[in-house]
Amino acid sequence: MECIFCKIANGEIPSKTLYEDEQFRVILDIGAATRGHALILPKKHADNLFELPDELAAEVMKLAKKMALTLKGKLHCDGLNLVQNNGAAAGQTVSHFHLHVIPRYEGDNQNINWVPGQPSQDELESVRKEITE
Ligand code: 5GP
Ligand code: ZN
Repeated sequence: MECIFCKIANGEIPSKTLYEDEQFRVILDIGAATRGHALILPKKHADNLFELPDELAAEVMKLAKKMALTLKGKLHCDGLNLVQNNGAAAGQTVSHFHLHVIPRYEGDNQNINWVPGQPSQDELESVRKEITE
């Protein structure tokens, strides 16, 4: 088993753990974008959201809320981003599902954004059809 997040999630490699239960470990990100930047890791390996079992997908958002409240209560952040990357094209660098929980502070100078496009109504309708039909 060569997956580093499997090893961290299952305690084979030490980490700054904020929370642990049977299914998940929540750790501090080694490259924290802001103070308290956490990663929610399922203990069972799934490469990404496409492969994550439904039960874990449902549980991970409950845990994200719990962590969000904890981080807000303890660190007094002003806001918080959830970020979850799937595939290299989307910026995923570790192929074990993880949800970033990123506390935000006024003036923290972080930039977790995209450049808004300007799709026409026709383009929006075309993609809507492609997705739904
Ligand atoms: P991704 O770009 O795949 O969404 O995010 C991977 C994240 O994992 C990055 O923010 C990176 O800093 C973090 N990371 C990578 N390796 C380790 C590690 O060994 N320990 C911890 N705590 N975080 C890691
Ligand atoms: Zn893994």
